[in-house]
Amino acid sequence: MYEGVVQNLIDELGMLPGVGPKSAQRIAFHLLAADPADVKRLAHVLLEVKAKVRFCQVCGNVAAEEQCRICRDARRDPHVICVVEESKDVVAIEKTREFRGRYHVLGGAISPIDGIGPDDLRVRELMTRLADGVVTELILATDPNLEGEATATYLARLVKPMGLKVTRLASGLPVGGDLEYADEVTLGRAFEGRRLLDV
Ligand SMILES: [Zn+2]
Repeated sequence: MYEGVVQNLIDELGMLPGVGPKSAQRIAFHLLAADPADVKRLAHVLLEVKAKVRFCQVCGNVAAEEQCRICRDARRDPHVICVVEESKDVVAIEKTREFRGRYHVLGGAISPIDGIGPDDLRVRELMTRLADGVVTELILATDPNLEGEATATYLARLVKPMGLKVTRLASGLPVGGDLEYADEVTLGRAFEGRRLLDV
């Protein structure tokens, strides 16, 4: 334990995902030794991101404007929506260059243990987007783990009466993992080889 504000910093850093107590301490001491201008820039960007970044009104992706860059792009195929859990999954899929449709970011996955149900995700918004019949294929690209599979099955059942083509990314993705951990080639292949989801 350190005194006062140093310990506060370590505690705050330790609450970040993937940062354990040792890393938190290392980052804290790095910041203590760093140039004040660098630390100021970091502090500024932290505040700025909370003040300026918002979520796309259409798909829920992070956006600098009312709509994200992808939703504003008229060249993107309006007939296919790829459903993902988080904005970082959009980034991972965009890197593969396999997908030219639109996205829908749920904001997580169904997880009864964590008390997260469909109402806590952007499911209603997805149903609204599907209502006009423009979308013909829904790709369920939730993570290849328990929660992601449960979410995909739930959504497939929910949209079944709409008669859409519902697909799931092909196997080959690291099971139990996070979509973002798959390398571009594997993720690209999983996209190409997506299979019909029959529920
Ligand atoms: Zn968007």
